[in-house]
Amino acid sequence: MKHAVKSVWSICLVLVLSLVLSACGQDAAPQNGSGTNPADQSNGQEAGEADSQAEKIKIGLSVSDLTLERWQHDRDIFVEKAEELGAEVLVQSANGEDAKQLSQIQNMLSQGIDVLVIIANNSDALSTVVDQAKQEGVPVLAYDRLINNSDIDAYVSFDNVRVGEMQAEYIVKQVPKGSYFLLGGSPTDNNAKMFREGQMNILQPLIDKGDITVVGDQWAKDWQASEALTIIENALTANQNKIDAIVASNDSTAGGAIQALAAQGLAGKVAISGQDADLAAVQRIVEGTQSMTVYKPIKTIATKSAEVAVQLAKGEKVEASGAVNNGKIDVPFIKLDPIMVDKENMIDTVIKDGFHSYDDVYKNVPEDQRPSRP
Ligand code: BGC
Repeated sequence: MKHAVKSVWSICLVLVLSLVLSACGQDAAPQNGSGTNPADQSNGQEAGEADSQAEKIKIGLSVSDLTLERWQHDRDIFVEKAEELGAEVLVQSANGEDAKQLSQIQNMLSQGIDVLVIIANNSDALSTVVDQAKQEGVPVLAYDRLINNSDIDAYVSFDNVRVGEMQAEYIVKQVPKGSYFLLGGSPTDNNAKMFREGQMNILQPLIDKGDITVVGDQWAKDWQASEALTIIENALTANQNKIDAIVASNDSTAGGAIQALAAQGLAGKVAISGQDADLAAVQRIVEGTQSMTVYKPIKTIATKSAEVAVQLAKGEKVEASGAVNNGKIDVPFIKLDPIMVDKENMIDTVIKDGFHSYDDVYKNVPEDQRPSRP
């Protein structure tokens, strides 16, 4: 797509490859992709097909950490939509390591991608590689997490400040007065800061009034449940178990915190928020050990991002709902709406959307205590 010369070489390359592969009886699946792309079956390819293959848009999707449940859904839906739009996707996961994400992106650039989609592990550590992509004529889309101080082309995410407000609003309704622990996410994720901004919009006036006392405030490295577990274990010890509410910024950290609460017989007695509607979290909600989560329909963000990525690769104009400043430029922002989920609206949200099935969500709830099947 980028250069006419490249296309000619690509056609030759594809022809040679298809000959070699049909001889070997193998597929030319994209490296580390979903491996489900039927369009990548190169066996018995005609010259005309090779032509369209050469024109296929190649998207590089760099994921911060595929070990967390949330991003597996994003990857699957993004790849499916991109393939439907006629593109192919190279996927790489940095598994929480900044340096790994940098080298994986450089590697994808060397493979001639037409557009780069990044779920940043560290919002402040990617400006050099974004510069490199831009110098090579590759547009960059920040997926879910903003990339600071860089020349990115677009940002697709949810209203992250609103996510934080929803978490705090819910917990404040449950526990209007008392001792609160604030459990932040990864300190290197710009979203974690936006969630906290939203939480404080709600909490600060109540802290000032003296209704709420913040007994601790810590951030879990890489959003890891194990980090959250240790943080809350220590916080319970330090406060003689006197914690009434935990404002946890997502479901993986809520999971770790609830494990620490359970060890003290406190699971279900301390109000606790979350985010992502992870399966384990929605199960905890219907079982009563987690108060709420924020559902951000992944289908919406993944589908939209795939569409925007293809538009950017084609040099088309992207329609944004607004702009957000990343310290260097005003980035076109495609802002999506999050949804508050608790026990009451579980069926009408997560289940109705097909994000999780009724059977999975209520798996551990005795049949006679389940709401009626939709
Ligand atoms: C996302 C959350 C997610 C967290 C950990 C954040 O940037 O917005 O949905 O829970 O990362 O992966």
